[in-house]
Amino acid sequence: MLEDHDLEHYLEASAIARKIMKFGRELVKAEKGFLKIAESIENQIIKEGGKPAFPVNISVNGNAAHDSPEASDTRQIAEKDLAKVDFGVMIEGFAIDTAFSYNPSNEHAKLIEAAEMALQNALSVVKAGVNVKAIGTEIERTIMEYGFVPVENLCGHSLEQYNLHAGVEIPNVARGGYILKEGDVFAIEPFASTGKGYVNEGDYCQIWSLEPHANMAVRLPKSRELLARVAEEHLTMPFAARWFKDIPMLRLSLADLEKQGILHSYPVLKEAKKDCFVSQAETTLIVEKEGAKILV
Ligand code: MN
Ligand code: MN
Repeated sequence: MLEDHDLEHYLEASAIARKIMKFGRELVKAEKGFLKIAESIENQIIKEGGKPAFPVNISVNGNAAHDSPEASDTRQIAEKDLAKVDFGVMIEGFAIDTAFSYNPSNEHAKLIEAAEMALQNALSVVKAGVNVKAIGTEIERTIMEYGFVPVENLCGHSLEQYNLHAGVEIPNVARGGYILKEGDVFAIEPFASTGKGYVNEGDYCQIWSLEPHANMAVRLPKSRELLARVAEEHLTMPFAARWFKDIPMLRLSLADLEKQGILHSYPVLKEAKKDCFVSQAETTLIVEKEGAKILV
C-alpha cells in the first residue's frame, strides 16, 4: 500500500510530467538537435519543481532505448527518423517514467499507433488481482494485429522510491506470474518493431548509475571526485556522462568505476535486425482496486 504522503509526491510529479509531455511534443516539432532537446526537457523539469529521474533518452529508428546525447553531440532528428523521447520526473525520489514516439515525415504512423494502442489496451485490464501475463497478452496481441512484433526483452517495471526498476517486470509478451496489488506503482512500456522483436546492447554508452551497496573505497583521485559528486547528487538514479562534463578525464573515471563494480552502465539497446524501426509508448500508474490511477 502507498502511504498518503508518498501519493502526494506522485501526484505532484504527475502534474509536472503531464506539462513536460506537452512541452516535449511541441519542442520536437521546432528543435531537432538531440542535445538541445534533452537539455531543454531536463531544464524544464527542474523549472517546474521536479528533478529528472534519469537522463532524457532520445533513441531513433532501430535504437530502441538508452541513447542519450553526449556533451558534444551534434546529431539531429531527420525527417524520416522515428524517435523515442523517454523522460522521468522525480519528487523526493518518487519517479514517473514516460515516453512518446515522433516521426516528422509521418511514414511510421501505424508503427507508433501500434505501441500507443497496445498501451491503451494494456491499461484497460489493469486492476488489483490481475496477473501481469494478462497485460503482456494484450500488448502482444495488439502489436501483432498491426502486423508488427513486440520487443520481448524490453519490459515495463515496478517503481519504488529512488528505484526505477524495482524488481517486478511487466512483459510486452504473454509471460510472467506476478499478481498486481493495490498501491503498486508500475511503468508499462510497449515497444513495437519492424525487426526481430529483440534488442542487443550496442557500444555507445552515455547513461550510468551507482551500484547499490558498492565498496566506495577508490584509489584514483579523479574517480573519487566523480564518485563523490554522483553519490551526492544522484543516489541510485541513472545519470548522463554529460552531467559531469566539467570533470577532466571523465571517460577514464567512468571506465575505472565500472571495472570496480561501483558503476553500472546502460549502453544503447539496438534491434537485433539491421535497418528496422521501433516505436514506444510509456506511462506510469498506481494500481487500484477496480482499475488504475494513470499518472501521465
Ligand atoms: Mn520505463
Ligand atoms: Mn522510460
